[in-house]
Amino acid sequence: MRIQRVLANNPGPFTGPGTNTWLVEDEGEVVVIDPGPVESAHMERILGQVMSQTPVGVLVTHTHPDHAPLANPLAGELAAPAFGYAPGPEFDPDIVLAEGSGLTVGGSRIEVIHTPGHADDHLCFRIADILFTGDHIMGGSSVMVEDMGSYMASLEKLRGKGLTMLHPGHGDDMDEPDRVIDWYLAHRRQRHEDILEAIRSGAASTDEIVEVVYRDVDRALHSLAARSVRAHLRLLSEEGRIASAGPDLVVLRTNST
Ligand SMILES: [Zn+2]
Repeated sequence: MRIQRVLANNPGPFTGPGTNTWLVEDEGEVVVIDPGPVESAHMERILGQVMSQTPVGVLVTHTHPDHAPLANPLAGELAAPAFGYAPGPEFDPDIVLAEGSGLTVGGSRIEVIHTPGHADDHLCFRIADILFTGDHIMGGSSVMVEDMGSYMASLEKLRGKGLTMLHPGHGDDMDEPDRVIDWYLAHRRQRHEDILEAIRSGAASTDEIVEVVYRDVDRALHSLAARSVRAHLRLLSEEGRIASAGPDLVVLRTNST
């Protein structure tokens, strides 16, 4: 088996160096994971890597615009199906995947793992002890989270499972998966407590919480941080630790300690 990365030309504050498109090649067959945004030069580079191998599919970890939109055009070009969890704004899977779905490339089995949290439709793909993580885990940064309870559960699900390598949707590979996952879990728990502390100290809106908790983070990322804060607030509310959390007003429980 051979794994190759083709970096999309979409660097930025939300995408780091750009989207990592992964090609997994085995016994003359190839799959493409996360083809990225629609960009002809990127498509040409992917096609150049596929060369004479037999394409068996284009896989999408989730339907965000930096991961999925090239999937259908590329699948058409390769005459191979596009695979994903669900349709999205610019993506329509030919074959729908779910937790436990399996497909093969050459002699290698690809196991599909549903990992909601960053996005409801997020999948990770496992081959032997290697995991393609999409935006569930990124190289060199934390992740914007839509559903905090699901996200934490999706991290726990991958822990202690014998993984030895993570290939993320952005940034560099990570070769100690359990350590990385532990850092992510600890980071989210810390943010959870920091947000509660900010509310106790008087922050009463999402923006005010972001100003306090994310003061050391690049302001270009504050809009993403606000989405993660809202996800933390929903979880704090479910946990009964805050009384309510609208978009602009956070109410602490009167007996909160
Ligand atoms: Zn994403």
